[in-house]
Amino acid sequence: MAENILKISNLKVAYGGIKAVKGIDLEVNKGELITLIGANGAGKTTTLKAVTGTLPSCTVEGDISYLGKSIRGKNSFELVANHLAMVPEGRGVFTRMTILENLMMGAFTRNDKAGIESDIDKWFSIFPRLKERSAQLAGTLSGGEQQMLAMARALMSHPELLLLDEPSMGLSPIMVEKIFEVIRNVSAQGITILLVEQNAKLALQAAHRGYVMESGNITMSGNAKDMLDDPKVQAAYLGEA
Ligand code: ATP
Repeated sequence: MAENILKISNLKVAYGGIKAVKGIDLEVNKGELITLIGANGAGKTTTLKAVTGTLPSCTVEGDISYLGKSIRGKNSFELVANHLAMVPEGRGVFTRMTILENLMMGAFTRNDKAGIESDIDKWFSIFPRLKERSAQLAGTLSGGEQQMLAMARALMSHPELLLLDEPSMGLSPIMVEKIFEVIRNVSAQGITILLVEQNAKLALQAAHRGYVMESGNITMSGNAKDMLDDPKVQAAYLGEA
């Protein structure tokens, strides 16, 4: 039976009178690449922030369990130490540090020097652009390269689960393709990923399973390939009628 990594049950989040998430269920199993797609304002980022304990003041109901234990109320430091890592929208790399220093920062919860060094080599092989620029300040990188650095930095914490919020946002079509190639490569390394994306086509092409979120509800879920073939998904999210 598949090992459950993340289980969201009847999650409800309200910002004052605004019901952003209205009772959703979502599961991610070990090794899966799961995508949560939906329009602007559907509640995707709010769902991820509920998992990472980074919501602003608001009302939260329901349960979120990670590796079989409830994580409601845990802060992000505790979660990173438990190998749950998030790359937020907007990336947030340390622009005045070099690429290598950013990666070392990603390993701040670890003290296995040899393991850290071999992980840097491993992720440099998946992100060759970062290797070429390892001594450069992160602020000099392009938006797409900063997105790659943010992902590589999160991977340095040895995540059991990697949460990605809109990694393709604001990038050129060529860079978007590259980012998705990297996501597929990271997934092929066995890392479990929950990917929030507005680029539904590329996200479903890369994912094993998908969920569609509309106005705070999950309105569809299933095998990603079946969803790509679904006329309703095609009409609403893939620009095909
Ligand atoms: P996007 O792709 O734009 O990030 P999303 O699907 O991630 O969209 P959320 O950002 O989760 O959607 O927003 C869901 C709803 O909650 C929206 O109506 C939004 O205006 C509202 N919302 C989000 N953050 C806050 C906040 N801090 N205070 C009040 N309302 C908020």
